[in-house]
Amino acid sequence: MPDRGPEFRLIKAARVIDGLGGPPIERGAILTRGDAVRAVGPEEEVVPPEGASVEEIVYEDKTALPGLVDSHVHLIGIGDGRAGDDLTLLPDEVLTLQAAKNARTHLYSGVTTVRDCGAKNRTTFMLRQAVEMGITPSPALLLSGRPIAIIGGHLSYFGIEATGEVECRAAVRQLIKEGADFIKITATGGSTLTSFPFRPSFSVEEMTAICDEAHKFGKHAAAHCVSTQAIVNALDAGVDTIIHGYYRDTDGAIEDRPDVTERLARQGVFVNLTLHQGRQRLWDLQAKKESEGITEDEQAEIDRIEIGREQSLAHGAALRDGGVTLVCGSDAAWAHYEMGGFQDEIEIHVRLGMSPMEAIVSATSDSARSCWAEDRVGALEPGKQADVLVVDGDPSRNIDDLKKLVDVFQGGRRVDRGNYV
Ligand SMILES: [Zn+2]
Repeated sequence: MPDRGPEFRLIKAARVIDGLGGPPIERGAILTRGDAVRAVGPEEEVVPPEGASVEEIVYEDKTALPGLVDSHVHLIGIGDGRAGDDLTLLPDEVLTLQAAKNARTHLYSGVTTVRDCGAKNRTTFMLRQAVEMGITPSPALLLSGRPIAIIGGHLSYFGIEATGEVECRAAVRQLIKEGADFIKITATGGSTLTSFPFRPSFSVEEMTAICDEAHKFGKHAAAHCVSTQAIVNALDAGVDTIIHGYYRDTDGAIEDRPDVTERLARQGVFVNLTLHQGRQRLWDLQAKKESEGITEDEQAEIDRIEIGREQSLAHGAALRDGGVTLVCGSDAAWAHYEMGGFQDEIEIHVRLGMSPMEAIVSATSDSARSCWAEDRVGALEPGKQADVLVVDGDPSRNIDDLKKLVDVFQGGRRVDRGNYV
């Protein structure tokens, strides 16, 4: 057996954020036993049992908070801007190795749980097998495997196309047999070349069959939706998380639909907006403009993204004001968003009006609730996984401090991040 170290660890920090939204605990402490949190509170109240073997770690002027929960990743992504249609041409073996690299990078950046929203064939299930064998480090993995798509629909190239209620139910059963923790549906088209971006894909009956079958086995369903009608269909079908969540008609024009916001809030459906993806592209283009200059087309893309960004922030603010629970999920390493920068997605939620503490909740306990994993992760409470992030400064005042990483603990053990910066 490997040496698991002392039975208890006592992590003391200038402040502890529990991830549930209350004020930080000044001079706080977290007592862990094995891989679980045993107690959290002011340091004078958190005392290990007498005579126990305890390792005490003291972080002066630093903040401890729950390990981050990224509710939306694509572990097989490269993040170099290549289209999904090209990504899927890479062999499964290469994609599995890329997934291992991405998993390690995300863990080292402070993310201790990820929900993977779609991968090719069985690549992410293969990664999980390697992680369970201790071959490669990774955040806790919540996997959908292949997304369920219509024929030619968004992400259909990853390996499952289903038509009709029978095939939809069969697809869910197949994925669960292979190890899926939840089901990802593409409810509209998207960047996939053969798909129709703003048109709904599955019928309500098909999506209802998918959700019903998933729920029967205690799994949830998350749907990629970039049009209003698809969101309405997903709400009718019983989907649990809406991804992207644009209010657009079938031509892509923006719609004002407070009635849909009201339904999202009333049904308690989580929305993952994926706001940073476009901004990352903007940053890349602006950097290129400074260093080597850009083409007219690229300038036009900058202008388009800037307008789109204002609109998405206003949309996000309206959802938040309407009582919808927004959960952070990066969508890395899809398109231009490399792994290891989940903090950028969290920060942009402050720009749409959240307090830094709200944004932290959105990336920890709320995110965990959307992944149906709140019994294990997303908060520092007795009985939960001892996944702890330690940063310099106070991210409840300045969200940028989330990037000032000092240490990551996974299941009570400090992650050796080597020379990672
Ligand atoms: Zn995605």
